[in-house]
Amino acid sequence: MDKHLALLEAMVNVDSGSGYREGFQQLAAMIRPIAKELHCSFESRTAHDGSVHYVMSRGEGERILLIAHLDTVFPLGTAAKRPFTIIGDRAYGPGVSDCKSGVVTILAALDELNRDQWPDCRIECLFNTDEELSSPGSREIIAELAKGAKAVLVVEPAEGDNLTVARKGIGRFVLKVTGKAAHSGSNYGDGRNAVVELAHKITEIYRLSDLKTGVTFNPAVIKGGSRPNIVPDYAEVEIDLRLKTVAQERQALERLNEIVGRRWIPETESRLEGMITRPPMEVTPANLQLYQEFKTIGDDLGITLGYVESGGGSDANLAAACGVPVIDGLGPVGGGHHTEEEYLEIPSLYRRIKLLAEYLKRCGNGKIGV
Ligand SMILES: [Zn+2]
Repeated sequence: MDKHLALLEAMVNVDSGSGYREGFQQLAAMIRPIAKELHCSFESRTAHDGSVHYVMSRGEGERILLIAHLDTVFPLGTAAKRPFTIIGDRAYGPGVSDCKSGVVTILAALDELNRDQWPDCRIECLFNTDEELSSPGSREIIAELAKGAKAVLVVEPAEGDNLTVARKGIGRFVLKVTGKAAHSGSNYGDGRNAVVELAHKITEIYRLSDLKTGVTFNPAVIKGGSRPNIVPDYAEVEIDLRLKTVAQERQALERLNEIVGRRWIPETESRLEGMITRPPMEVTPANLQLYQEFKTIGDDLGITLGYVESGGGSDANLAAACGVPVIDGLGPVGGGHHTEEEYLEIPSLYRRIKLLAEYLKRCGNGKIGV
């Protein structure tokens, strides 16, 4: 096993579910000596919500921001139960692909630059610890670092041999309906059925979805009522919204609010909570140009690249909102994310290290530029 895989093994075998601070500290303790070898500064940054993130950087000049997250979706004890394992060409374990292989890709690419020649630019790396929670704390650090960057490279897992040029925006909402309770036998007429009011609204909201434009509303988790012989006075639904453009965002929210304001059962009250948690990362000319630069490098290295638009969100959405060129999916190829079957395709780790290192080399030498 080479040193990159050994580092990945060590990282996967540390539990680092979102919120588990000791895990992040252990991972930071692994990265810190590597940062030193790379002549990089390595510092922790505390966000407004108290969450702690890590920034590693070196160099002067135009800034390139690399992002990979340290947190996983897996609870404490998972690493002991399902430690890092290699079977054939694949590696398994919690976070092996999402996103610890991304962290290793960054460190390995910088190792190559360090041995060869550090490019004439400033490379900043953010290892955040709350991505799987939609980055409630680190989003302010992402915005600060992304602003004015020449390019933001997000090293999330790749979908096949592709890079990600766009990601859907995500909204999360809870629609709460209150009615009036009554005995379903003796006072049925006095009741105001919150469940039925909510049911009307859910079907209307569902009908706003349009697979052609990519705007989808998913009313998903419902609660309401207590017993069949009581007219229910409360019901709620959690809704996931996905969309592709900022323009769609305005329209979708208008339509959603219009339905919330309509009333099917008199005297019921409806309230919508929630917001767009990740703005859409649109397919911009700048993102496509950045992709093209990677594609050219890939061709030179004998790595065939394509591009995809993803329905899922990541920190790339937050960086894109700063109006800078962003590419995501620069990590190795993996699958089964957020499940026990999560895997990494080991050969792709080395392809992605080469690709990232070569991009950074050329970038600093002024051979490419957005
Ligand atoms: Zn991830």
